[in-house]
Amino acid sequence: MWPIHGQDHLLRQLEPALTQGRLAHAYLLAGPPHVGKMALALALAQAVNCLAGLGAPCGSCTQCRRIALGQHADVRVVGVGQGQDGGPTRTVIGIGDVREALRQASLKPYEGKCTVIIFDGAEAMSAEAANALLKTLEEPPPQVLLLLLTTDADSLLPTIRSRCRSLDLRPLAKHQVAAALAARPQTSPEQAERLARLSRGCLGWAFNALTDPDYLEQREAELEQVRQICQAGLEGRFSYAADLAARFSRDREPARATLYLWLRWWRDLLLVKEGVEAYVQDQERLSELRLQAAQLTTPQVVEFIKALYQSLDALERNASPRLAMEVLMLKVPAGG
Ligand SMILES: [Zn+2]
Repeated sequence: MWPIHGQDHLLRQLEPALTQGRLAHAYLLAGPPHVGKMALALALAQAVNCLAGLGAPCGSCTQCRRIALGQHADVRVVGVGQGQDGGPTRTVIGIGDVREALRQASLKPYEGKCTVIIFDGAEAMSAEAANALLKTLEEPPPQVLLLLLTTDADSLLPTIRSRCRSLDLRPLAKHQVAAALAARPQTSPEQAERLARLSRGCLGWAFNALTDPDYLEQREAELEQVRQICQAGLEGRFSYAADLAARFSRDREPARATLYLWLRWWRDLLLVKEGVEAYVQDQERLSELRLQAAQLTTPQVVEFIKALYQSLDALERNASPRLAMEVLMLKVPAGG
């Protein structure tokens, strides 16, 4: 039984490959943040090591359980984020981490049947690290499964992409998220419905919001800041730009998430302008959205949404975060 919600289109392709021993050596799991890439990667790691036979993982044998607990010696996650021993946060997957993981891949598995290396945030790999990985992708050792997770497959080297089988994860339908949330104990139907609406089909986000009250509170605070910055003068906007750029240099993902929050707010504004309020995500903020929408024209909203996409794109292309954010802040329409 796959511990995966949605993504049936991928499971239909993976399950026969597993039972017939036709699994590729490397897969590229692509999809928006929190859509379930790591959950699928870990389920695959279980499937190739499961003691209950070929196909979907059983979830209850010692191999499956050790992988779920993060205790399996042959399953390794290489990613950005907190450095080892609580060291500083890293924004790049460096050559050292990749070499060390590939060295492990060249050895026989220690306790299971297959070594699984998961590169979380593969788009953050340094050029040197990507080239080292490329060599292994060209001549993969036996009994190794390499899983690259990314929110942005286009930013990977084409030579890396072409050597991996693609698995594109899709956001879930709102009712699927609501059903998965409702299955959790002590979740009210209203809570499940609200989080499902805010999650945009990313179940991991909804689970985080369900278990960590700070998660939603922080989102609310950031949204409030977005609303205020829209009305602030240049000085306020520039200081916000500097702050966001500094955050981006420390850790890309949360800063990107803030920009996506901006995008949501402005999409909601557009929906209000177009008179389709039923589709607005932040139903709780409808009155504020109406107020702001009344001061803007539809072309202004559309133009600013375009500018947001351009900023996200510029950041992906390693533009200066400070410059990208300042340019964006200059484009906030007057009256916004
Ligand atoms: Zn198992």
